[in-house]
Amino acid sequence: MEEKIIQENHKSQKNILPIVKYPHPVLRKKCRKIKNPLDPEIQKLIAEMIKSMEAHNGMGLAASQVGKSIRLCVIKESEQLYILINPKIKSQSREKVLGEEGCLSFPGKFLNIKRSEKVKVRCLNEKGKPVKVKATGLLARALQHEIDHLNGILFIDRVGKNLSKKKL
Ligand code: ZN
Repeated sequence: MEEKIIQENHKSQKNILPIVKYPHPVLRKKCRKIKNPLDPEIQKLIAEMIKSMEAHNGMGLAASQVGKSIRLCVIKESEQLYILINPKIKSQSREKVLGEEGCLSFPGKFLNIKRSEKVKVRCLNEKGKPVKVKATGLLARALQHEIDHLNGILFIDRVGKNLSKKKL
């Protein structure tokens, strides 16, 4: 079992994309919509982003974090993989919760961020089909973090004035 995992990791090593770190300007750009999700280049990028997210032990990864300014992100939560193309938050709860977040573009940085407890997101999946994602808790948090990336917003922008002093 373990050997198999090691082998798989080795095999995937060559397709691992480097992560763009803050303050690279691509992280601040508003990403553009994807016109054709079935474009082979997009399909290839999706596969590479999933591998890269897993290799870097991330829970989510936005295309801008691998230098592509397009509206695509991937999230893995509780072994469930989410591929979101052109995602849009359709509604979010007014109730906010404080939780710790990290970001692959900010190695070693963890911040307490207030986010909506629940969100409803609409997007296209990897097959170009419209889907709805209803999320609470950690997944809702990850969706808000990644969709922020697509708008050039970073988690450092979301730290409240008083929140940073508050201990959990
Ligand atoms: Zn991030």
